[in-house]
Amino acid sequence: MPAFAVIGAQWGDEGKGKVVDFLAERADIVVRYSGGNNAGHTVIADQGEFKFHLIPAGILWPHLRCIVGNGVVVDPNVFLQEVKGLESRGVDSSRLLVSDRAHVIMPYHVLLDQLEEKARGGAALGTTGKGVGPAYTDKVGRVGIRVGDLLDEKFLLKRLEVVCDQKNALLTRVYGAAPISLEETLGECRRYGRELSQFIASTDTIIQNALAEGKRVLLEGAQGTLLDVDHGTYPYVTSSSPSIGGACVGVGIGPTAIKKVVGVFKAYSTRVGSGPLVSEIQGGMGDVIRQRAWEYGTTTGRPRRCGWFDAVAGRYSAQLNGFTTAVLTRLDVLDGFESVKVCVAYQVDGKTLDHFPGSVSVLERCQPVWEELPGWDQPTASARRLKDLPPGAVRYVRRLEELIGCPIHLISTGPRREETILVRPIVV
Ligand code: GDP
Repeated sequence: MPAFAVIGAQWGDEGKGKVVDFLAERADIVVRYSGGNNAGHTVIADQGEFKFHLIPAGILWPHLRCIVGNGVVVDPNVFLQEVKGLESRGVDSSRLLVSDRAHVIMPYHVLLDQLEEKARGGAALGTTGKGVGPAYTDKVGRVGIRVGDLLDEKFLLKRLEVVCDQKNALLTRVYGAAPISLEETLGECRRYGRELSQFIASTDTIIQNALAEGKRVLLEGAQGTLLDVDHGTYPYVTSSSPSIGGACVGVGIGPTAIKKVVGVFKAYSTRVGSGPLVSEIQGGMGDVIRQRAWEYGTTTGRPRRCGWFDAVAGRYSAQLNGFTTAVLTRLDVLDGFESVKVCVAYQVDGKTLDHFPGSVSVLERCQPVWEELPGWDQPTASARRLKDLPPGAVRYVRRLEELIGCPIHLISTGPRREETILVRPIVV
């Protein structure tokens, strides 16, 4: 029953898209398990560059079945647009399925997301405004619309009558906005149902059966562990669980089916939007990294905040997820620096912490304790074998392994598939 989970180990944007695409060659099914179109995965394959927001990054391999799992919230317009984009570039979408249990991002979720974020003023969370948070809120509040509901008009109408009343009270009385029309919302849902019907299936059963047959299933995470609604820097988090627990829940399998838990780390730290980032570098080297690595969001275009590798956060992430294997991406970005730093502990209120605190009010006051390592002159960019890496880079990789407590079995040295060092096979 070999499932392999690929999990963002930091604040997202670690390069999971490339890693999933690379590992997918040896898989049979790729399932995305959490988040919505607030995520953006970039893959550079033989056919060129692709940016995915909902569809699993494995879709570029023609032998694979790709599934949008029940833990994902689906904006049908975005999904259908992505399918169209892929088809126009010759990628067959008939291998794609969406769970009937996945929740729908409705037009009113997008509207409310923007109104809520505006109302937060200075305390804005930095959401992407795509309706993801409100869709998850409705899921937990038991007023969500699920993808399978789109195929059952009678049931849908009953649900929408209640939901539209509720949303209209919120829209008009709290935000002073115009009400939504039940008729129009139902009309939209009818269209969604028609256009999505060929993709909708009970995907949990399909995945469970595939595992029973010994098929290799890759579980594709979105965002990162430190944005997890339970374990991240709450409230500056996403509304779902990018960590390992979310992988089981968001696909419909038990933890014993997961053979390897793969944590994807970037060789330094980045974060989009608000919230603590202890190892952030303001200006100077932070700007150099941002420019060199083009650290701007795939979905929003927002500049990412940059910092050195945070080993306190990294160790926390490794323990929380039980990583059996780590992947290090973007090592090439650090090429040519005289020295590189790693945050090995935090200092707060006169104390040194070696664990990641649960409270953002503590995290916001933490100062990094740096360890400085020599850099490397020779490039790592495009290297394909461990022995092609300069000694300084190897020392850096080894030190990170020690600090996070997990072996690094894959090193990415550039955005292309072939710019990868496979130290030890992962999907077997
Ligand atoms: P994801 O959301 O975790 O998939 O990450 P993103 O797609 O937002 O960001 C990763 C970016 O880094 C993409 O533009 C990738 O093409 C690129 N990338 C991935 N691995 C590497 C690498 O090892 N080196 C460099 N320079 N770029 C990489």
